[in-house]
Order: sequence, then structure tokens, then C-alpha cells
Amino acid sequence: MIERSFVMMKPDAVSRRLMGQVLSRFEDKGLKIVAMKLRQIDEDLAKEHYGEHSEKPFFNGLVEYITSAPSLTMVIEGDDAISVIRKMVGATNPKEADMGTIRGDFGMDTGRNIIHASDAPESAKREIALFFDKEEICDYSMSDNAWIYE
Ligand code: UDP
Repeated sequence: MIERSFVMMKPDAVSRRLMGQVLSRFEDKGLKIVAMKLRQIDEDLAKEHYGEHSEKPFFNGLVEYITSAPSLTMVIEGDDAISVIRKMVGATNPKEADMGTIRGDFGMDTGRNIIHASDAPESAKREIALFFDKEEICDYSMSDNAWIYE
């Protein structure tokens, strides 16, 4: 099933100039970038996005990290995109994430884990609406679609 996921390269990825390398992985995989925006996330938006963690001890540090420099926010589309992208991203703790995953290859600390990706269809829907207007999401075809999908 064609799905859309909300994906965000966090301030460490942007500040460490990892955007191109990470974006290439999604393009190489055959996924389609349908929206993209570099933006500095403010405190209110960070708190809303991570609302489910508001009672956790790491919450304040997380909000501080996410608002500390620009993030690259994206909507990425593809067949089973949500689970495929989560697999590419790897475990929350980069030290435990498999080599070959984005967090496994680029990160060391849970508090600096490079990238966010929606974990389920409901959260993807909520997060996409939180970060993008409908008209900012592009509808187009990839010319090699028949070589990516059977
Ligand atoms: N986080 C943290 N410390 C922790 C757990 C999580 O700083 O002990 C941060 C980390 O940036 C993580 C985010 O909170 O990506 C959201 O946590 P979640 O458990 O939802 O992990 P994810 O879905 O990002 O893998």
C-alpha cells in the first residue's frame, strides 16, 4: 500500500552536513520525496510533536535539542513507506542500531540520533498535518516507477 511518512533530519544532521548523504539513501531506495522544508522548529511545535513524551525525564533536553538549529522536514512516499523508512532509520539508541542503518552509521547518542520518522499510519497523518499544509505536498510520478515496482 502506498503510504506517506513524516521524516525529519534533526539539528545534528543539518549542522553536521549529513543532509545530502541521508537524503541519498531515501532516493537510492526508490522512495519519493513529496515535500521538503528546512526550518527552525520553535518550542511550541517541538512540544506538540513530542507531546507523548512530555512526562519523560528527557523531554526538556529533547525540546532544547530539536529547537537548537534548523531541521530538514520531509514527507516521503512509497509502498509501505512507514515501516521501510523505520527500518532504514534504525533503533532509537544509535549505539544499538544496526550498522547500515542511518542511526547505526552516523550516530552515537540517543539524545543526538540524527533523524525522526513516523512509527505508524496514525502518527504519520498527525505529524504531516502538523508540519505541512496540504498544498505543500507535491503529486508527481517518478520516471523509473516501473523499474522500482513490479
Ligand atoms: N529520546 C531521548 N532520550 C531517551 C529516549 C528518547 O533523548 O531516553 C529522544 C530521541 O531523540 C528519540 C525521541 O526522543 O528519537 C523520541 O523517542 P522515541 O522513543 O519515540 O524514539 P524514536 O521513535 O525516535 O526511535
